[in-house]
Amino acid sequence: MLPQLGWLAMAVSEMVWDLSQLVENTEPGAIQKVLDSMVVEAGKVRERFHGKIGGLDAKGVLELLELRDALLLRFEGAVMYGYLMYSADSTNDVAKQLNEASRRATMRVSQALAFIDLELGKLLAAKPSLIGDLVLVEFRHFLERLLRRVPHMLSETEEQLVIVKDKNGIRAWELLQSDWLSMRTFTIEIDGEKKTLPYGQMVGLYQSPDRDLRMRAYQTVYDGLGQDDIIWASAIRAVCEDHVRMCEMRKWSSPMTQSLIDNDVDEEAISSLMKTIEKNAGLYQRYLRLKAKLMGLPKLANYDLLAPLAKGPSTTYGWADARRKITEAYREFDGQVGDWIAEMYERRHLDGEVRKGKTSGAWCNSWLAGRSAYILQSFNGRIMDVYTQAHELGHAMHSYLLSRAQKPSNCEVGSCMAEAGSIFGELLLTERLLQEAKTQEEKQAILAVVLDEFGASAFQVSARVLLEQAIYDSIKKGQFLDGEATAKLWVEARAKIHGDAVDWLDVMKWEWTKTPHYFIANYRFYNYPYVFAQLFVYALYRLYKEEGKGFVPKLKALLSAGSSKSPHELAAQFGYDITKEEFWQKGMKQAEEFINTLEKTL
Ligand SMILES: [Zn+2]
Repeated sequence: MLPQLGWLAMAVSEMVWDLSQLVENTEPGAIQKVLDSMVVEAGKVRERFHGKIGGLDAKGVLELLELRDALLLRFEGAVMYGYLMYSADSTNDVAKQLNEASRRATMRVSQALAFIDLELGKLLAAKPSLIGDLVLVEFRHFLERLLRRVPHMLSETEEQLVIVKDKNGIRAWELLQSDWLSMRTFTIEIDGEKKTLPYGQMVGLYQSPDRDLRMRAYQTVYDGLGQDDIIWASAIRAVCEDHVRMCEMRKWSSPMTQSLIDNDVDEEAISSLMKTIEKNAGLYQRYLRLKAKLMGLPKLANYDLLAPLAKGPSTTYGWADARRKITEAYREFDGQVGDWIAEMYERRHLDGEVRKGKTSGAWCNSWLAGRSAYILQSFNGRIMDVYTQAHELGHAMHSYLLSRAQKPSNCEVGSCMAEAGSIFGELLLTERLLQEAKTQEEKQAILAVVLDEFGASAFQVSARVLLEQAIYDSIKKGQFLDGEATAKLWVEARAKIHGDAVDWLDVMKWEWTKTPHYFIANYRFYNYPYVFAQLFVYALYRLYKEEGKGFVPKLKALLSAGSSKSPHELAAQFGYDITKEEFWQKGMKQAEEFINTLEKTL
């Protein structure tokens, strides 16, 4: 690639990413050609191996898996290019066309190669000794995970039938829930003016510094949602009851089994995690009471949970300032990691500019072939945006380590571990920000951001886990779950976590209606990984504080392992057992530290 002209590079904002590094030639025609050849190459793999995997020995399996990994690395840049370009600006015609081309090509490749996991699974079931074969040592855990799925696979015809029945069955219910929610509009008075807003905009009012507006926003939304309880209840019932039937057919021993397999964890670890949460609900309630004090309230109401502390405008941060703070935070942890973070900015792998047509939210996309990553966010200069950037760069740190240590097959990190780098990065930033904070108010604002997030991910999400469990228990007992019955289960689950530290508006019993996770077809128990991730990283951070620099190589080894080891094995490397409450309690200890620090600022 030719070096960019100096004046041109100067003209480009450093908040706009440079995607040209992903491909040799950025001409749309050239990218299309690369995508076409990807489909052809996948076809060749299919031709060679389809129907023949059952006869392969260890060497043959190795060749197949390496071929699939090589295919991914070779075409990864071209596949990412269109998708990333489109996410940054969906109004761009070239981006639309390339994104569509990339989506189509990827779909054809995954269809062509779907036989690999199926045939390989059967081979492993017949010859489990292959997993221990030294030739396949790098793929050991990948194969173990595959084998764990085999007993739950149905015949080819049945699997096809499941797809057909789901399309107009539970997938339709899932779609109805999300469409119904996004189509709702709500009328609310803002600054003396009546406004009719869609759900997405109403949610934005939850963080308004105006307490009365926040209260009315919640009241209006849930009043509206509660009126359609028959729809939400029918949807959740259909999705959950279908899952119960599928558990019987697929021989999943409990409604959680599917999710445990997907997340590479076992029931013991999750139940000890949830026990730790319930035992420490008092600690969370202590924070909620502290927050009430900081806000000058006798008690928090539900509409204060996500609210900012300050009533007035809060400190804003420029891009350069955020870049410096974040880079330094990572560099203080480790020089090599600091260099990588600096490189992310220097090579312009972040897109922070706010623009029309840009997708909402923020994410980090690994670029394994380039041993790097790309990050998208809309940077508005709020403290939250600085945290989001540090979070996404933590994912990038994970990608840098992973891509240097593992084959792509070992880079499919499950939900429980996927946030290990990102949440850790947020804590590194916290340390830095607290060092630099000049006033008590600044310190309070930082700690409130951190503890609000911890509370939301570890505790509020736990209430959702409890609701999921309660729903399946009720179905098992043959109870009919209409809207009111489901709302009752939600209120009970909520109380176990929040105790009497929060006053709830009556309509908040309908809060479960808006949570898409309950309605996702064929993917149940999606909530506990958030709790797991949060507490896992807090425990690691605690160890970092205790062990100092000696901990650094351990964390790097953990992130480098990717999915080549289970979370259980990874924690064992630190000398901990995730099936024991002692490990999770370490995470609580760190949260308690933050709460103590916050208390001292009063
Ligand atoms: Zn994340």
